[in-house]
Amino acid sequence: MTMNIDVTYTKSLKPKPIADNIAFGKHFSDHMAVIDYSEEKGWYDPRIVPYEPITLDPAAMIFHYGQTVFEGLKAYRTEDDRILLFRPEKNFRRLNLSSDRISIPTIDEEFALSCLKKLLEIEKDWIPTAEGNSLYIRPFIFSTEPNLSLAPSKTYQFMIILSPVGSYYKEGIQPVGIHVEDEYTRAVRGGTGTAKTAGNYAAAYKAQEKATQEGYSQVLWLDGVEKKYIEEVGSMNVFFKINGEVITPELSGSILEGITRMSIIEMLKDWGVPVIERRISLEELYDAYDKGQVEEAFGTGTAAVISPVGELNWDGRKMIINNKQIGELSQKLYDTLTGIQTGKVADPYDWTVEV
Ligand code: PMP
Repeated sequence: MTMNIDVTYTKSLKPKPIADNIAFGKHFSDHMAVIDYSEEKGWYDPRIVPYEPITLDPAAMIFHYGQTVFEGLKAYRTEDDRILLFRPEKNFRRLNLSSDRISIPTIDEEFALSCLKKLLEIEKDWIPTAEGNSLYIRPFIFSTEPNLSLAPSKTYQFMIILSPVGSYYKEGIQPVGIHVEDEYTRAVRGGTGTAKTAGNYAAAYKAQEKATQEGYSQVLWLDGVEKKYIEEVGSMNVFFKINGEVITPELSGSILEGITRMSIIEMLKDWGVPVIERRISLEELYDAYDKGQVEEAFGTGTAAVISPVGELNWDGRKMIINNKQIGELSQKLYDTLTGIQTGKVADPYDWTVEV
């Protein structure tokens, strides 16, 4: 796809948030990228325009049948003032996989990435410079056809918006407490759990509410059929270090394939640390705990990179992991990965892409 990206500049720049205290997802930059889709034209009219509210018909299919997908990645500013993206081609690949699952037409991944780069060039002053801060990037697609018929929309809009975010760990990395959810289900094989689509996240709020009420920060999701096998933690993938070996649930058809997850697996293999993707049940985990073999546990995702688990509560059966301290391997993974992402550590894997 070779198309010119039209640019309309805003007439009034917005004030940027104060560096030290930027709340997640509340501030948006001055411009956004937009591409339209129709059956006749395919994806057309790529443009960068001032960030502003959009108008949709009340019958637009997104409001009724939820055909929408999104991505999440970050741009980092290096100490020598370069802009780095972390494996962005993987996000656009996954966007298309998500789209395909819910019958949204796929988009040219390279072209979508070139739109993002152009938007970032225009918005580079929005990438915070303070330690740990970054610019969160949210590409998304939604159905726009005004039609209440139950069939895929014939028109869509692709957008990228940008949001400066503060450090996830302002007070240092704190291991979190996790509530094991055995009533609500996030996803089942054959469903939409492998796609980043809005309904998965709306369906997770009830369980998160329970966790919060019990004083825990996240939910541990189990498989939807037997309620036996571990799947994810909150909106992160999950890893356990048991008796020297790192285990993460295999991609079962209901787990989102995290880009942090794939990077961690590749790094561990490179370091010669035993790592395996396989089914792991709660029973197995608790048995290993009783034998004193659960050494570390952590979630992985773009937002936190690594989020150590300090405690697990499964219907009152509590597990305290590594004395509620971040484990040695978790810390090394965090330092190396954030180092690569921010350009502080050499990138031996060619993961970063300079804008
Ligand atoms: N699982 C779910 C359900 C998620 O929403 C995310 C965040 N995209 C992840 C895992 C982690 O994925 P990534 O490492 O690509 O951010």
